[in-house]
Amino acid sequence: MRPIARIAPDVGWLPISFVNVYFVGRPGSAWALVDSGLPGRASQILAATEARFGSRSRPEAIYLTHGHFDHAGSVVKLAQAWDVPIYAHRLELPYLTGRSAYPPPDPTIGGAMAFLSRFMPFRALDLNGRVRELPQGELPGMNGWERLATPGHSPGHISFFRSSDRVLLAGDAFATMNMDSWGGLISAKRTLARGGAPFNMGWEATRLSVMQLAKLRPNVVGCGHGIPLHDSDLADRLEKFAEHFRPPRHGRYVVEPARTDESGVISLPPAPFDPVPLATAAGLIAVGIMLGAGHLDNDRRRQRS
Ligand SMILES: [Zn+2]
Ligand SMILES: [Zn+2]
Repeated sequence: MRPIARIAPDVGWLPISFVNVYFVGRPGSAWALVDSGLPGRASQILAATEARFGSRSRPEAIYLTHGHFDHAGSVVKLAQAWDVPIYAHRLELPYLTGRSAYPPPDPTIGGAMAFLSRFMPFRALDLNGRVRELPQGELPGMNGWERLATPGHSPGHISFFRSSDRVLLAGDAFATMNMDSWGGLISAKRTLARGGAPFNMGWEATRLSVMQLAKLRPNVVGCGHGIPLHDSDLADRLEKFAEHFRPPRHGRYVVEPARTDESGVISLPPAPFDPVPLATAAGLIAVGIMLGAGHLDNDRRRQRS
């Protein structure tokens, strides 16, 4: 079993395949879980939790930076096992209560993740009535942390910041690995990059969120994807990254965002032309023709014999 790694005082990191979960707080005191990994990973998280916090320990709450399937995948199982509330931003709730599907990902922006996004779910989750709006004021289990609305990747995306030692948990506002390249996706090489770009439903909002986070000049950054960073020049690099942050040259949500409110998606920019399903369809037709031809051959053979 992979243990929880320490990235800052009382901040633990556990990668679950290509997505991260974070543990805030120390054994013997109130603590919280940030994000819950892919579906089917609850037992892995429970085992790691037991090793770090003890067998009877449970968090005050589970916080979701946002509700995409790779961050909320195991949250119901964990919330049930611990009997704790799940908190998310008000504008993220429609997608966690079965009210609305997320804006569909945009596979036409190009890159590895964009290609893969065609096969990833974006339907609404329904967290069994366990999810609540983030409380006002202090966050249970996260003393000294503030929540920041960082929309753009999703409507109610949030990040967490501890100003006393400038630790930032940024979800998918950006990433510390390049998921746009196949090489970056496989190697998980540390770099500042766009977070789950094909899922970004508003590029200008995403840019403003990155700017907002860069202004915090964090010492430690843990994102949803990639190995957490704590290099001495991190704040400067993040500032440069934010300054040079550009939307893709073309894409569904580049000029106009998906419009959303408390009830979910209101309107979407028109779906762009996506040539790959056509290529896939053409491929399937070709395979069908070949199989059909083979079948005919067999028929003919049978007739001849
Ligand atoms: Zn995401
Ligand atoms: Zn993600």
